[in-house]
Amino acid sequence: MRKIALLFLFVLFMVSWTGVYAAPDTAPAAKPAISLPKVSAGKTVEARGSSRQPVLSQVRWANHTEALTGSAMLRLVMDVSGPVEASGVVIAGPTPQLSVIIKGTTPAKTIKNLTFDGKVIEKVSFAASGQDTKVIVDLPSMADDLDYRVFTLPSDPQAKRPFRVIVDINEPVPLPDYSFTPGLKNKVIALDPGHGGSDPGAIGPSNYMEKTATLAVAKRVQALLEKAGAKVIMTREEDCDVFGPKATAAEELNARSTAANSRKADVFLSIHINAFTDRSVGGTSTYYYQKTKYDLMLAQALQTSLVEAGKLQDRRANPANFYVIKRTRMPAALIELAFISNPDEEKLLRLPDFQQKMSLGIVRGLERFFDQAAKLN
Ligand SMILES: [Zn+2]
Repeated sequence: MRKIALLFLFVLFMVSWTGVYAAPDTAPAAKPAISLPKVSAGKTVEARGSSRQPVLSQVRWANHTEALTGSAMLRLVMDVSGPVEASGVVIAGPTPQLSVIIKGTTPAKTIKNLTFDGKVIEKVSFAASGQDTKVIVDLPSMADDLDYRVFTLPSDPQAKRPFRVIVDINEPVPLPDYSFTPGLKNKVIALDPGHGGSDPGAIGPSNYMEKTATLAVAKRVQALLEKAGAKVIMTREEDCDVFGPKATAAEELNARSTAANSRKADVFLSIHINAFTDRSVGGTSTYYYQKTKYDLMLAQALQTSLVEAGKLQDRRANPANFYVIKRTRMPAALIELAFISNPDEEKLLRLPDFQQKMSLGIVRGLERFFDQAAKLN
């Protein structure tokens, strides 16, 4: 299922590819478009046992804007005289970098470092590293594994194309300037019931599952918000995976943040239940990633209202690097309503009364947030 979906996405992506331009230090703009590849994404080809190492002979690059999402990316195309393997890794460091190793390849002497405008990448440098070629791409900001792709394309003698190593890098998109009005009416709220389907999340001592609790609460919140005139986007409405079964964590979480991003939610709220090895630990906490000026404010408003509503231990609003609160473009928070590993709290979580109480706490927290945020305008 997942492979087919990926292949389909890849083909879609390749079909929407428009043009390729020569690197500034070679002929301008007249290069032919890259042909449609006949291999699936990520395929690597074993190097042949040849005595002469394949040579990295030419580098081209192209800008591409995706028709559907308007998101921009940059593609580096590196010609190699024989089949090789290539892989990339992102390095934080003082300058965030994508390091691509092309195995068993020597860079030709004519290969020059490239400088870019910094919108997508700053610089590309090439160096021999033992038997390999190391391609270092300086990035304007930190990337993660969904921001780039490294793959190879086989040679195509008919089209006179050599073996190629391709590096695609997404352009970082600046966040919009948010401003809010008070009240819940007409607000677009994305609700993300944590886990689901093949992923139960944490499981309590009497086998209550996190995915069940998060969905039950999210549905109550949805009903309350809609009654208050808000529009609700649910990342899932039943016991299912959002991306698909057996997806990687990144794919699954990306599907959740994309649901909010593509529909331009005002606020994103991920609902979870905590767990810990020590069963006596309990309480409510909220997490935020301060990417807009509102994330902390949202987390604090929710935390205050949830503690008022549920009367569990106040474990506060805390900063965290969680994927869904970082990769959503709007103010976002991830709440941990209680500890499912704590037998008393597990019992509470099963109760419709407690679920409703916490749902009212969330709604009150959102209302509180919009009222406070409106005062910042
Ligand atoms: Zn969880």
